[in-house]
Amino acid sequence: MKLIAGNWKMNGSLEANDALVRAIAAGMPPSACDVALCVPAPYLAQVQMLKSGSKLELGAQDVSQHAQGAYTGELSASMLREFGVRYAIVGHSERRQYHGETDALVAEKAKAALAHGVTPIVCVGETLAQREAGQTEEVVKRQLAAVIHVNGHCISEIVVAYEPVWAIGTGRTATPEQAQQVHALLRKQLAAATAHAQSVHILYGGSMNAANAASLLAQPDIDGGLIGGASLKAPDFLQIIAAASA
Ligand code: PEP
Repeated sequence: MKLIAGNWKMNGSLEANDALVRAIAAGMPPSACDVALCVPAPYLAQVQMLKSGSKLELGAQDVSQHAQGAYTGELSASMLREFGVRYAIVGHSERRQYHGETDALVAEKAKAALAHGVTPIVCVGETLAQREAGQTEEVVKRQLAAVIHVNGHCISEIVVAYEPVWAIGTGRTATPEQAQQVHALLRKQLAAATAHAQSVHILYGGSMNAANAASLLAQPDIDGGLIGGASLKAPDFLQIIAAASA
């Protein structure tokens, strides 16, 4: 079954969330794929309540590598679990870029999530400069290798999201063939670490929308999507869910 995860980023309000989650829950097809909403932390309790009775799962957008203690501003995996959080995005390119997150830190965050029953959605992806320099394979492999190195024993429990940085929020999507090529590489890398690589969800993220979702999701190694902008509009998000549920 495919997984569609919405990344609201720093968007939303009590009023807007109420309308959005109700519309998504009401419009889900009867045999919908797995769907998660990764919402800003202050709204976890609200969305936990709004989604009850639906198939929607709750996600966070980050998690601390620490279990507890003097880490002002951080959120631990066990706190997230208390609010019914099932997924946490780790290593999103915006966090790598604006918060200096390294491959090693992302690996530790994935470990902390796994230790508390939260599935990390590990983001990897190259910048435009790296793609143009022919470094795509090297970059994504390095990013995933760090996570495999630290979490090898339970690596089949993670979700991977391939998000080319040049496609995020730009309206410029990787072609299905470009995305599939990288997904196949990532699958091969996982297969070297686990016998269950085939069951690991590898999501595509980067300007996925209602119009391009079906062709991306038709690729053999694209197991779902991580959706930014289009996850804030119920009709668009529902069309992506429908494409993934077909
Ligand atoms: C994202 O930020 O994870 C993302 C894929 O954003 P967008 O869909 O807006 O490109």
